Amino acid sequence: MSLPLGIDFEFRKLIMDVHIGSDKIKYCYQCSRCTDNCPVAAVANPFYENVFDPRLIVLGTLLGYKDVVMALAGTKSAIVPWGCTVCDTCDTVCPQAIEVTEIITLAKNVTSGAGLAPDNVVAQTKTVFENGKAIPSQPAIERRREQLGLPVVAAPDVNEVQALLKAIGTDKKL
Ligand code: SF4
Ligand code: SF4
Repeated sequence: MSLPLGIDFEFRKLIMDVHIGSDKIKYCYQCSRCTDNCPVAAVANPFYENVFDPRLIVLGTLLGYKDVVMALAGTKSAIVPWGCTVCDTCDTVCPQAIEVTEIITLAKNVTSGAGLAPDNVVAQTKTVFENGKAIPSQPAIERRREQLGLPVVAAPDVNEVQALLKAIGTDKKL
């Protein structure tokens, strides 16, 4: 992994302020239990230029190394922080009850706000915006459901979904 480019105190304060129970994060043991139990860290790293490591993300947050928490600006294929599946395993196994997932979610929001969300995330968000759901209904899916005797899935209220997404400014990011 390349060395961090510098300390960003503003970013550090943002995460420390927003992180639930921010006091707890200061007592991270750096024991790596979060990383050892993270399913993404276990399988994904060989495929990306950045290392996905929850322990390192916590350390980067504590030290204000934004580039560690959010990969390197401009690397849209970066797995940090977007690889996190929000499975909450790290939060569950952490002996210090640190909510690593909260840190990563905030990092995703900051990255997205800076226009650096990966293309696949932007494409998925567009799908939700345009169809009101992540996987739009298709004739093949409907046929298979009918064959299996499953009930017809009600169409989502696209206007309502769009109103919600517009209220948080998502449409301006697409
Ligand atoms: S499991 Fe908790 S204490 Fe251990 S490195 Fe991860 S965040 Fe820190
Ligand atoms: S919530 Fe994210 S970082 Fe934590 S264990 Fe799951 S995938 Fe890994």
